[in-house]
Amino acid sequence: MRIGVIAIQGNVAEHVEALERAISERGEEAEIITIKHKGLVPTCDALVLPGGESTTLGRLLLREGIADEIKAMHAAGMPILGTCAGLILLAKKGDEQVRKTHQHLLGLMDTQVNRNAFGRQRESFETHLDLAFLESPFNAVFIRAPAITHVGKDVKVLATVDNMIVAAEQGNLFALAFHPELTSDSRVHQYFLDKVFTSRM
Ligand code: GLN
Repeated sequence: MRIGVIAIQGNVAEHVEALERAISERGEEAEIITIKHKGLVPTCDALVLPGGESTTLGRLLLREGIADEIKAMHAAGMPILGTCAGLILLAKKGDEQVRKTHQHLLGLMDTQVNRNAFGRQRESFETHLDLAFLESPFNAVFIRAPAITHVGKDVKVLATVDNMIVAAEQGNLFALAFHPELTSDSRVHQYFLDKVFTSRM
């Protein structure tokens, strides 16, 4: 089992640590690798697209040839977790800002996103979030967070804040507007790992 974390930019180390902790908690074994170049995504069983700045991330994924590898592995059924900027990149459609700047999205998930849904009102905040797959709230950290504004019929909404969608899944795609890697509660990573270990490619 090998899980790749895209390491072009953003909170990479935190995701690696959170994954390692969650994997050892379940008594499983997996190798976590960081990915900066082409050639590694096809060797992975699962992938994490961390937060950061979605414009830069999208551009570099394309330039390095990693974007096409991610699309191919998605088509082959690989589970992908996208947090924050990762949620933006997974989307099929962006808001006006995304469209005007011709921002490159991977376009895998039947969602439309607002890049800075909470940005102007609240730069960053924490809230006890009810997630559909958890029995008690999760302390969710939002940083210049995006939100999903529209979903297609195959997308399952998992959580909302102020009527905006902040967590959703579609098959093996799992998108979060917050940062589960910044808290020690591993339940969200465990939910992703459930997908990873059951859909082993
Ligand atoms: N809103 C940011 C963007 O557009 C994402 C913020 C984050 O990943 N913390 O890229």
